[in-house]
Amino acid sequence: MKNFTHIDAQSIEHTIPLLDYYARPLAGGTDLIPLMREGVWQPDRLVNLKPLADLHFLREAGDGLHIGALTTLDELDRSPLVRERYQALAEAAHSAASPQLRNMATLGGNLLQQVRCWYYRGPFNCWMKGGDHCPARSGENEHHAVFDQSPCVAVYPSDPPAALITLDASIRIVGPDGARSVKVADFLAPPDELHRVMHGLGLNELITEIVVPHTTARSLYLKAMDRAVWAYALVSVAVAGEVANGTITNPRIVLGAVANVPVRLGAVEALIDGQLLTDELIKEAGTMATHGMEPLAHNHYKLPLARNLVRQALRDLTGQRM
Ligand SMILES: Cc1cc2nc3c(=O)[nH]c(=O)nc-3n(C[C@H](O)[C@H](O)[C@H](O)COP(=O)(O)OP(=O)(O)OC[C@H]3O[C@@H](n4cnc5c(N)ncnc54)[C@H](O)[C@@H]3O)c2cc1C
Ligand code: SF4
Repeated sequence: MKNFTHIDAQSIEHTIPLLDYYARPLAGGTDLIPLMREGVWQPDRLVNLKPLADLHFLREAGDGLHIGALTTLDELDRSPLVRERYQALAEAAHSAASPQLRNMATLGGNLLQQVRCWYYRGPFNCWMKGGDHCPARSGENEHHAVFDQSPCVAVYPSDPPAALITLDASIRIVGPDGARSVKVADFLAPPDELHRVMHGLGLNELITEIVVPHTTARSLYLKAMDRAVWAYALVSVAVAGEVANGTITNPRIVLGAVANVPVRLGAVEALIDGQLLTDELIKEAGTMATHGMEPLAHNHYKLPLARNLVRQALRDLTGQRM
C-alpha cells in the first residue's frame, strides 16, 4: 500500500477544505483500507472523521429519525427505536457483514461502498476504473446485474440503502457551497462516462446525517445469500406499507443486488396497493417483479430468486407465513 498522511478531523468546517481527489475521508475504514491495499485507490491523505462527535448520534426529532453518518451498522441493528419503528433498516443493518465488521462499518461509509466486482477489485483496468470496456459482461458475471443500466454491470452492494429508499430517507450533505439534502433514491444513480461512481457525492463533500421521516408503515428486509450468514446479497428486497386486513396501502418495494442501484418496483406497487393479497395476486406480483430483467450468461438464477423473495416479503409483511 502506498504511504499516506493521516489527519484527524477537528470539525466539519476544518475537514471540507482538506478534501479532494488525493485526500479521502476515513470512517470505519472497512471499505477504504482494503481498496487502498488492493491498489484501486491511492490517496495521499486520509482525513479521519471519527473524532467528529457531531457526526455520531441516533435520535428522534419532530420530523423523524436522525442518524449521524458515523453511526455504525451495529448501533442501528441494536437500537430498540430502529427495531420497533423502522424495521427494514434494522434488519438490513443486521444482515450486513459480520458482527465485528458491523461494529466498525458506518452508515455514511456504507452508502458510498464501492462495487464488489472481482475485476474492479483485481488487477484489471475495467471501465469503472477508467478503462474502455467491462470484462464482466462476457466473463465471470454470476453476481452481476440483471438490469442493464450503464456500461458497468456491477451491482450496488450495500444492504441498508434499499431499506432507506423504502422508508423515503434523505441524506444531508455539507460541502464548500453549504449544506444540501437529497433523497437516497436520487443520491444513488448508475455511473456514466464522466462520473464513474454510483452516487452523487462530490469529492469535497461530506455526508453528515441520514434522516428517515416518521412512519406508521410496517417494513421488512429479506436477503438471499449463497451461505447462511455474513455474505453479500445475491438478491434482496425491502418492503414498506400500511398493513391492515391482508392489504398493504401505499406500498414501497425495492430490489437490491440486481442493478447498479436499488430498483424501485413501481408497477408492482401499483398492482397491489390496497388490494387483498390473495395467493394469486402475490404470485402475479412476484412475476411482475422480474419484468425487464435481462440476465447475463451466469446469473439467470437471480430471476426466480427475485420472484420468490418478493412473494415471501409480501406474505411476511401481511402475516401470511407459509
Ligand atoms: C468481509 C466484508 C463483508 C461485508 N458484507 C457486507 C454486506 O453483507 N452488506 C453490506 O451492506 N456491506 C457489507 N460490507 C461492507 C461494509 O458494510 C462497508 O465497508 C461499510 O459499511 C463502509 O463503512 P465504513 O465506515 O467502514 O467506510 P470507510 O471504509 O471508512 O469509507 C468508505 C467510503 O466512504 C467514504 N466516507 C465514509 N464516511 C463518509 C462521510 N461521512 N462523508 C463522505 N465520505 C465518507 C470514504 O472516503 C470511502 O470512500 C462488507 C465488508 C467486508 C469487508
Ligand atoms: S462490472 Fe463494472 S466494475 Fe466490474 S468489470 Fe465491469 S465495469 Fe468493472
